[in-house]
Amino acid sequence: MKKEQAGLYIHIPFCLSKCGYCSFYSIKSVNLIPEYIAALKKEIKYYRNIFSSFDTVYIGGGTPSLLSAQQINDLISTVNKYFDIDRQTEITMEVNPGDVSLEYFQMLHKLGINRLNIGIQSFDNKILQLLGRRHSAKEAIAAIEAARAAGFDNLGIDLIYGVHGVSIKSWENTLQKAVYFKPEHISCYQLSLSEKTPLHKKYSSDGWQLPDEDTELKLFLTTAEELENAGYIHYEVSNFARLDKFKSRHNQKYWQHVPYLGLGPAAHSFWGNRRWWNKAAVKTYLKEIAQDKMPVENTETLSMEQLQLEALFLGLRTKAGIDLKLYKAKYGVDLLANKKTIIDALIKNKFVELKGEFLRPTRAGMAVADSLALI
Ligand code: SF4
Repeated sequence: MKKEQAGLYIHIPFCLSKCGYCSFYSIKSVNLIPEYIAALKKEIKYYRNIFSSFDTVYIGGGTPSLLSAQQINDLISTVNKYFDIDRQTEITMEVNPGDVSLEYFQMLHKLGINRLNIGIQSFDNKILQLLGRRHSAKEAIAAIEAARAAGFDNLGIDLIYGVHGVSIKSWENTLQKAVYFKPEHISCYQLSLSEKTPLHKKYSSDGWQLPDEDTELKLFLTTAEELENAGYIHYEVSNFARLDKFKSRHNQKYWQHVPYLGLGPAAHSFWGNRRWWNKAAVKTYLKEIAQDKMPVENTETLSMEQLQLEALFLGLRTKAGIDLKLYKAKYGVDLLANKKTIIDALIKNKFVELKGEFLRPTRAGMAVADSLALI
């Protein structure tokens, strides 16, 4: 495999408690963290002759802020030992407001973490409780203030909308509160509920419903308008940045088929036309690494058709849209000629527009981005 600069994702699959809506795999056995860090360090080393440098590193979870600053240092030093990363590398860490302090943030900043993503979700204690988050609104605000005081000038926050009992008006208030703190990046995710999550059970037993299509659309448009009016760039369906330079460089790799390496259980990696992913259970992961094995669950080789479809799906979720020239060069398809009738209809109905060499979703198109890709 040719050496190439890529993005690195490090997964920390531990959570002290399970949020009511969360269907991601994570475990509460924090006593395994030291062993887990040692295993991750071995996995990092496995790839030393495959990848050479990373210009983004993303420590996500789970709850990475359950790791001590020393453990984070251990991981970053190991990445540094085997790969080229420099001061320009975007190094993001996800943090939970309940775990952090000024001192912790100061240590992370010293270690070279230059971007934080804080899982705030709501500024309303009742909603936080309903979602099963283990932090309060006060702690969320304290986390933002502590991050600023520690010198972080690239802060992202996550919010959830579409929660039972939150009117459009109170969602607007939440957005205004968020904007007040001027985070460089805001991600707004609509609540979705998988079966078997405690919140799904609560919705069923209390006869609650997720928002219908009309309300969903209103919430989406309100979010886009509020944040754009506050000066944010709506650059992907769920993502807003204060300036171009604050768009998540790491996440853009996922959307643009740029290579990335994922480490830790269930982490996915991508290179060229290959995708591979690790075994999901922490104990299996630890066992395989202890036996000096690659903990890979499976690998797939994507056909040109699959790559084309993915690029279409991902491109139409972004404001930049699809670079038609690049699309043709990469996937061998002249999209406009190939899907002329349907694209003409989408343009006529103002779901997409042609801007120079780009096919872009309009705001209305972004609201239904997942169905647009079915063209
Ligand atoms: S902190 Fe994140 S990963 Fe952990 S349970 Fe909550 S939503 Fe899921």
